[in-house]
Amino acid sequence: MPRFFWLLILFALLPARAGDRPDVWDGAIRPEHVRPHVEFLASSELGGRSGANSAKAADYLTKQFRDCKLRPLFANGSFDQPIPTSAQEDSSDESPRIVGRNVGAWLEGSDPKLRDELIVIGTHFDHLGTRNGRIFPGADDNASGTAMMLEVARNFAVAKQRPRRSIVFVGFDLEEQLLWGSRWFVAHPPFELNRVKLFITADMIGRSLGDLPLPTIFVMGSEHAPRMKLLLDDVGSPRGLEVARLGIDLIGVRSDYGPFWNEKIPFLFFSTGQHPDYHTPRDVLEKLDFDKVARVSSLVLKLIETTANADSAPEWTDEVQPNIDEVKAIHRITDLLLEAGEKKPLTDLQRLIVTQAKNKCQQILNRGTFTADDRKWLIRISQLLLLSVF
Ligand SMILES: [Zn+2]
Repeated sequence: MPRFFWLLILFALLPARAGDRPDVWDGAIRPEHVRPHVEFLASSELGGRSGANSAKAADYLTKQFRDCKLRPLFANGSFDQPIPTSAQEDSSDESPRIVGRNVGAWLEGSDPKLRDELIVIGTHFDHLGTRNGRIFPGADDNASGTAMMLEVARNFAVAKQRPRRSIVFVGFDLEEQLLWGSRWFVAHPPFELNRVKLFITADMIGRSLGDLPLPTIFVMGSEHAPRMKLLLDDVGSPRGLEVARLGIDLIGVRSDYGPFWNEKIPFLFFSTGQHPDYHTPRDVLEKLDFDKVARVSSLVLKLIETTANADSAPEWTDEVQPNIDEVKAIHRITDLLLEAGEKKPLTDLQRLIVTQAKNKCQQILNRGTFTADDRKWLIRISQLLLLSVF
């Protein structure tokens, strides 16, 4: 993803929901569950998970799925989906060169009427490899999301009660190569795509936007699936984690949800945001907040459980409404920036911009109406904040 991408995030922030939180609970997935996966995936032995080293990560995922006794997802009882080079996508070459592989498993739903419907959770496990002798461990990008997916899979696998709909678990390879793994998967799915009622992905869920002290998980895409928006509100969040909803159209295609978005399959994208160590050798395990990874994992687990057992499935909508929650979110971020002190030192000019933004947000919130002109201002000030403060 372009470095600038995460800077764009603030102008699209949806609710931080500090005040009107419906439900807070303790998550089922603990830091000690997710950490060992990251320890292995981000270890020097895996050399940054590219090429032959990406295959080691794929082997690890296969073993995890096998140990959980989940069913293989692909043809001939295989957990693997080989991916040819992109140049040969349309060629009729009988033996194309294989450059990577997706890894997938599934759990059959318990309800005979609903089990043909699928909820797919997929996260990329590849990263940037080793360059000039330096390993890019990709602990946050995306060992963190992969650890989450594996623990969600394990929880479903050991649960006494199977969900009503079927759940599919996928590790995507080659995300760092223009989403080649997930694009190949969607172009060559092991089932009919119209059976997929929800796709969930996560990319970087163990740090925080700009290294600010934000207990926030950004959740994007729910504006295209009204049921998921309601469900996110109903489910609440694990203690210590705040959900901020964000419109996906404001950030564009930046991770494996892209190919699913193209197909108008309802999707959610989870991320804690870009930080100064993004795509550098400094994206290391020691800097991850494993409490956060565990909380996000617990949230995803509960969302999938709830969606999988609901009477009706999410449906896609093209129509997206603006929301005063955007103002609440910017207000919250500016508040945090002013309170951050030494953790995020501000120059006098920055402090002035942030204070003005906060005050105007407060005015809009006091008034209770959010006009089209207000929104234009909000976008401008958010961009200014992004360019001048982060
Ligand atoms: Zn990534």
